[in-house]
Amino acid sequence: MNKELIKKNFYNAVNEKWLETAVIPDDQPSMSAFLELHLDIEKLLMDLTKKWVLDPSGLNKNLKNFIKYYKMTSDFNKRAELGTTPIKPYLDRILSLGSLKDLENNAKELLLDSIDLPLSFSVMQDFKDSNNQILYFGLAGVFLPDTTYYKDEATKEQLLGLFRMTSTQLLLLYGYTPEEANTIIEETLAFDALLVPVTKSREESADYVKLYNPYDRSVILDKIKNFNVMALADKLVGQKVDKLIFNNPDHLEHFDEVINENNFKIMKSWMILQFLLSFSSLLTDELRIAGGAFSRALSGTKEARSKEKHGFYQAYNRFNQAVGLYYGENYFGPVAKNDVTIMVHEMINVYKERIQNNDWLQDATKAKAIKKLDTLSVHVGYPDELPPYYEKFNISSYEEGSNIVEENVKNSRIINEYQFSQYNKKRNKNLWGMPASMVNAYFNPTNNQIVFPAAILQKPYYSLDQSSSANYGGIGAVIAHEISHAFDNNGAKFDENGSLSNWWTEQDLESFNKKAEDMITLFDGVQTEYGPCNGKLTVSENIADSGGIRAAYNASKNSGKHSNDDFFQNWARVWRQKSSPEYAQLLLNIDVHGPAILRANMQLSNMPEFQEHYGITKEDEMYLPKEKMVSIW
Ligand SMILES: [Zn+2]
Repeated sequence: MNKELIKKNFYNAVNEKWLETAVIPDDQPSMSAFLELHLDIEKLLMDLTKKWVLDPSGLNKNLKNFIKYYKMTSDFNKRAELGTTPIKPYLDRILSLGSLKDLENNAKELLLDSIDLPLSFSVMQDFKDSNNQILYFGLAGVFLPDTTYYKDEATKEQLLGLFRMTSTQLLLLYGYTPEEANTIIEETLAFDALLVPVTKSREESADYVKLYNPYDRSVILDKIKNFNVMALADKLVGQKVDKLIFNNPDHLEHFDEVINENNFKIMKSWMILQFLLSFSSLLTDELRIAGGAFSRALSGTKEARSKEKHGFYQAYNRFNQAVGLYYGENYFGPVAKNDVTIMVHEMINVYKERIQNNDWLQDATKAKAIKKLDTLSVHVGYPDELPPYYEKFNISSYEEGSNIVEENVKNSRIINEYQFSQYNKKRNKNLWGMPASMVNAYFNPTNNQIVFPAAILQKPYYSLDQSSSANYGGIGAVIAHEISHAFDNNGAKFDENGSLSNWWTEQDLESFNKKAEDMITLFDGVQTEYGPCNGKLTVSENIADSGGIRAAYNASKNSGKHSNDDFFQNWARVWRQKSSPEYAQLLLNIDVHGPAILRANMQLSNMPEFQEHYGITKEDEMYLPKEKMVSIW
């Protein structure tokens, strides 16, 4: 640790050596503590996969299917030999559409086969009644990562130029002439331009509650004349649908302006290009590399993944929960699962105490908050069950006359049919939203549930050979961060059952909103190397970080073995990150998490205990006057 930097830039003081020596892999846009763990697990799983190929005996049905699929996805000779033949039947279905009516008649089958249409449905929990699942509906998104990119003419032209260039290369590889490619791309962008004004920005989408806009069947039928959205909804779920939830009311108001017979030609080009882009990853080596060129350019990633990695991820992405379960059971295990579960409950207890002692909430709100903590369901390591559609997956090999495009469509369809079958049913809250082998954690507001996959429960977050204070500054803060999401500006609107309902007294809600505003102000416009932080976009994560570090600090103090140095240093260590300039700028625009350096430094500056421990004063860059500090949880 560089002691001279402590008061100036604590993140650099702790991570100086790492920042000097860490190398961003050529197939990644950044390097971080998260990614280091991810790369270790990637190697472990790829080695395991190779071992399983040689001897699949003893594997369960899911893993045997995974290996069977992996042998196909990693066989680039066969992929080269097949060329673009495997997509032909699917592309022909799009090409044969002659009118909007045609599209309407074929929409169910196309959606079930995961072929992108300009509109989509999904079955998810009802925000107002988390014990039921209903249909959400919306128009497609836009090609640039955020609507704000379309506002600035220079940025828009630069990025769309990049899109034109990479799409042209892809279409030429598919065998289109330059003129044909140009027409498809220009028509695609003309349709994209119609979607821009009816698409929410990332900042707008960060407000969950505003994504819930229910409309009755009669209202929808009255407003949307060009396409029978309700008939399609009925067909997809196999029963009469009485309402749809729009994540954007503009999709109801302006549907007919975007989707109409006059636009059908450009809409069809849009569908063709979307299809060719998304299916390119299932074809030859040249096509899958060309298909990823635009997103690599946006994130400043130098190279596509190697063939070997690409083949692995294609099979893994389909079977990730099953492979993750193997990883969790064998590399984390029941003892660690029990250990960490105890730690999570300990953190929930600290949180409860903090709510009891909180000086700005009235007793009525405190009681409700504690009820929410008592009901919070905790999931650690690996799930108790896999999504039921895994049972239905089956893989037919090249020898059996199949190919990976067909396998991909067939198994996507199994998932889609399962999802639509869940309409009007209760959600199984034991199912996880990410594999156990993913370095991450989450809070789910509609389940009032926190999930910590096995992969994140490692050094520097958690290890028996680092001090307990270091563990509290790492995994302790991560656990408390996820708990805090139950009380951030979004989570606070859901009750202990995961339903949207206001459990706050008026006065407390007002105080909370004021504090959330203060958190926005604390981060908004703060400069980093690649641009300013957006306070509104990142407010929920900043509230969670702030609650996380405070509760973890509290728990570390209670442990009787507290070390300020170990705690604060590990907090700064887990946020170490190095990014390409393109990726850093992209994240500033689209990521609800603030830039890593601010997550480390600003949250520390915002803590009186940090200021006191290191004797930080007005002259220091790490200084924040006490009256500007924001403490919510
Ligand atoms: Zn978070």
